[in-house]
Amino acid sequence: MPDFNSLPSKLPKGKTSIFSVMSSLAREHEAIDLSQGFPNFETDARLKDLVYKAMKDGYNQYPPMNGIPELREQISAKIEKLYHIKYKADSEITLTAGATGAIYAAITAFIHAGDEVIVFKPAYDSYEPTIKSNGGKPVPVQMKGEDFCIDWQEVKEKINSRTKMLVITTPHNPSGTVFSKDDMQQLEALLKGTNIILLSDEVYEHIIFDDIEHQSASRFPGLAERAIVCSSFGKTFHNTGWKMGYCVAPEALMKEIWKIHELTVFCVNHPTQKAFAEYLKHPENYLSLGNFYQEKRDKFLELIKGTKFTGTPARGTYYQVLNFAKITDEKDTEFARRLTIDHKLASIPLSVFNYEQKDNSQLRFCFAKTDETLERAAEVLHNI
Ligand code: GLN
Repeated sequence: MPDFNSLPSKLPKGKTSIFSVMSSLAREHEAIDLSQGFPNFETDARLKDLVYKAMKDGYNQYPPMNGIPELREQISAKIEKLYHIKYKADSEITLTAGATGAIYAAITAFIHAGDEVIVFKPAYDSYEPTIKSNGGKPVPVQMKGEDFCIDWQEVKEKINSRTKMLVITTPHNPSGTVFSKDDMQQLEALLKGTNIILLSDEVYEHIIFDDIEHQSASRFPGLAERAIVCSSFGKTFHNTGWKMGYCVAPEALMKEIWKIHELTVFCVNHPTQKAFAEYLKHPENYLSLGNFYQEKRDKFLELIKGTKFTGTPARGTYYQVLNFAKITDEKDTEFARRLTIDHKLASIPLSVFNYEQKDNSQLRFCFAKTDETLERAAEVLHNI
């Protein structure tokens, strides 16, 4: 018998993601699932019809490695309109297996053993394992306070000759905060004159509230020239299970990303790309998203008024962080478990994303749910 247990693991401390853990706990205990971030309502029927039409029309074989030209053209036009920069459709845009596929390819393409990558904590949980599996070293910078602010002086102090990449997420998962124009300008100044690559995860670019403008890295010339910007159709068009995203980057970076993208997936789903190419012709399909989710955020916050949970309203993403310090001093992971098993409401504990798993008694609730689900969830929170 071969002894596979003695093989050295590439990720010895790697474990199943908190999203899978909490979602399966929710299923097992038939709890309302506000944990993993996905909508519990349907994607647009017109979009489904477009996918079906593409299948019937015979678009069922491999598309080009970097995506079909008409979709890359649409993405280029969308970015130019929104962020005033022109990405070349043939060499600077790639369709990927969700944003996760883009993030994996971007990190793997550039991170060598010993390279340092600055990540902001709480950090979305795919960055660090990917950095480590490539021999790189994540260098954490904890965001501060209720508003999850960034201390740019601390970032400056952590940059050195080994810093290869810096990862930002805006709007930010799991905190629901957004980077301001000032944040981006400070970052731009810090990176000036370096060869540091910026990985900018912007999957919630259209889910932003209270008239705040999304500050895409692509808007800032000193960032765009070094940025790999990742986006997600799943988040924008309510179909996370289709696993379709994309990234844009200057040609010199994209050439290297392609090598990894080709080796991991080669290309992504053809009929879905045909459908998105058509659907993106109508900007209202994504421009209405901020208002749509702002109503959900407001509804959720209104519904939970009078409970013992407190929190600053999310400024972007479809997550609301709530503090439960008035209820218990249990660890957030324990409380999240108990909330799921005993009270039938699943959420995500924030400590798992924090530096040294610091526990600030915070849980993340996904409000991309039907009003009926949000009402039932709020009822649970009122009883605690
Ligand atoms: N992005 C989603 C979240 O933050 C889920 C992603 C995943 O499960 N990999 O909940």
